[in-house]
This record gives sequence, structure tokens and C-alpha cells, in this order.
Amino acid sequence: MSQLNGHDSRRLSSAPGEDLRADNLTLTYVTPRSTTYAVRDVSLSIGPREFAGIVGPSGSGKSSLLYLMSGMRTATSGDVHFGSFHYSAASPSDKLDFRRASFGFIFQQPHLIGYLSVLENVLVPIENPKPADKKRALELLDSLGIAELAPKFPNECSGGERVRASMARGLVHRPAWLWVDEPTASLDSITGKMVMDVLRGQTEHGALVVITHDLEILDDADIVFRMRDGALTETFAPRSRRGKKEKRSEGEH
Ligand code: ADP
Ligand code: MG
Repeated sequence: MSQLNGHDSRRLSSAPGEDLRADNLTLTYVTPRSTTYAVRDVSLSIGPREFAGIVGPSGSGKSSLLYLMSGMRTATSGDVHFGSFHYSAASPSDKLDFRRASFGFIFQQPHLIGYLSVLENVLVPIENPKPADKKRALELLDSLGIAELAPKFPNECSGGERVRASMARGLVHRPAWLWVDEPTASLDSITGKMVMDVLRGQTEHGALVVITHDLEILDDADIVFRMRDGALTETFAPRSRRGKKEKRSEGEH
């Protein structure tokens, strides 16, 4: 494999067990009237198969940070590595190959293809779907409570149903990295709990990175990054926090 500055310069997919490292990521949006620092000098790392959360108020830079880490946008400065692969420095076509092989995306806008059925939409990330892929797609739809929508078209589904179909599409190919922006924003709380259960299954084979302003859904995350005004202001592990709380309340008895 060719090397560039000690890093892999080309790679088609994320190798198992690789972590993500973001170093000094900054993103500015420049308009004729103003410059917005959407992300300011953020450095962090996420381990393979970790459940990571990004929290913060609206406008704090959560989506922008996710776009930088996943390569949907190019940083004004800073670097993203997956293991030894210098992703942020890769060519657009290498980035695209890497992304197709290793990433799943679940955005607030589901972006389903109108002329494909729900099942066909779910299978889009898989080039030549086999019966086993179709079975997995149907199982995912079932676990998301929308099995009966498989043959229907997106315009026959409600907004929340379309979001859930896009979740099955993000999960279907067992990506090494799954990027999720506000998964519960358009769902009622019971459906929200159901989708978080399904999303958590992702950590059996890859990392799960979830943006939310609802800290409750990150209760069992491995690591949470808090953003404010584009900056990373706090990193904490909810599980160990909860552990401490439990221990403390035991001590109080
Ligand atoms: P969050 O996801 O936490 O709500 P965003 O990452 O969407 O935050 O936005 C961070 C900041 O960048 C906000 O101040 C927002 O207005 C600004 N911003 C986002 N997208 C653009 C854009 N395309 N052009 C200019 N400013 C933008
Ligand atoms: Mg956002």
C-alpha cells in the first residue's frame, strides 16, 4: 500500500478495530456579511464499536462537526484519520470509496428515492443484494415497527415512517461507522426508545455516533462530547457517571 507522510494515502474501507482521530478541526462559513466559526479547533477520538454522543444547543456546531468527521464537508483546517488512513487528505474519489464501504448515514431528512419501494430504498447501500441482505432489511424494518411498509413507496409513508426507513438503510450494510443526526427529533418518545434500541445494535459491528440535544438518549453511551459555540467544552462517559451516582446513593443509605 502506498504511503504518504507515514500514513496510508489510499484505502478503500475502514479496517476492523480502527479508531477515529480528529485533530484541531475548524470550519468557518464565510458570507459577504459575516464569518461564522461553526467548529473551533475540536480534537477528539472515538474507538471502534463505541457508542459516542455529541450534545449541545441548536447552532453549537454538532452537525458541522459530524460533516467534518464523516468527510461530507472539508475542514477549513485540521485532520481526520481512521487508524493510519489520513482520510481528510484523501482524493475525492478515494473518500467516496471509503465512505461507501465503511459509513452509514441517518440524517434528519430521510432523502428516500421516490420511485423505489421502502425495501428497495433500504437495500440501496448494497450493490448486489442477496437473499440474506433482503432478510436483514426486512428484519430491520420489523424491529423499527414498519415491516408492513416494505412494498410501499415513500410518498405513502408518514414523516416518522420515512425516518425509520432511512434508519434501516443506514444500518443494513453493517457499516464500520454510523453517523446519526438527531434520530429522535421527529418521533414520539415510545418510537424514539425503539429506534435507539435498534441503533445500539450497530455497536456489535461498528461505531455509532449520535448527535442530539436530548441527553437522555445517550444514557448508555461510552463517551459524550458537549459542544458550545463551535467548541468542545466537555467530554464525559455517562456510564461511569451513572456508576458513581449509584455508588453514592448506596453510600447514603
Ligand atoms: P447544530 O447542528 O448544533 O444545530 P450547525 O453545525 O448546524 O449546529 O451550525 C453551527 C453554526 O454554523 C450555526 O451558527 C449555523 O448558523 C452556522 N451554519 C451552519 N450551516 C451554515 C451554512 N451553510 N452557511 C453559513 N452558516 C452556517
Ligand atoms: Mg444540527
